[in-house]
Amino acid sequence: MTDQTVLQIFRDTSALLEGHFLLRSGLHSRQYFQCALVLQYPRHAETLCSALAGKLKETGAMVVISPAMGGLFIGHEVGRALGLRHIFAEKNAAGTLELRRNFKIAPGEKVLVVEDVITKGGRVQETIDIVRKNGGNVVAVGVLVDRSEGNVNFGAPLVSLLKLQIETFAQASCPLCQAGQPVVKPGS
Ligand SMILES: [Zn+2]
Repeated sequence: MTDQTVLQIFRDTSALLEGHFLLRSGLHSRQYFQCALVLQYPRHAETLCSALAGKLKETGAMVVISPAMGGLFIGHEVGRALGLRHIFAEKNAAGTLELRRNFKIAPGEKVLVVEDVITKGGRVQETIDIVRKNGGNVVAVGVLVDRSEGNVNFGAPLVSLLKLQIETFAQASCPLCQAGQPVVKPGS
């Protein structure tokens, strides 16, 4: 699957918007990406995840794990494409990820960590820590969209379907503000 094909699906489903956006960080951007909007179409989720799974076939993984909520659908579809079971880590009352519902990782089990989007990779790292604490062996991290710009190191290979770089601006130096284009807060 080419980057152009993936981007076209993101645009067609409004997961990737073009315009002038005010981000939660307070910065402005020309693009806004909301992965859930593409995943609301199971057909697209299946297509994208089987393409991602194709890049992860050689890892020898025995189980897929993802952090809830964002990673659930990706992990499930990647698990289906690879014929593996899929488990997930979820937030407890303290906001920390943990393995619940009697999900088990066997000592030495080869584990593939799957997430929808990474930027700083915090939730992926938390999931990796859980796997290692349970004696599992993280063989790779698979993500639909890598927004990290190369700034993460999980101690395991990182495989993405698409690398997406979204340029951000402080309001004072935003070219769109300077052009007088009205700014939009996504989701409002
Ligand atoms: Zn602006």
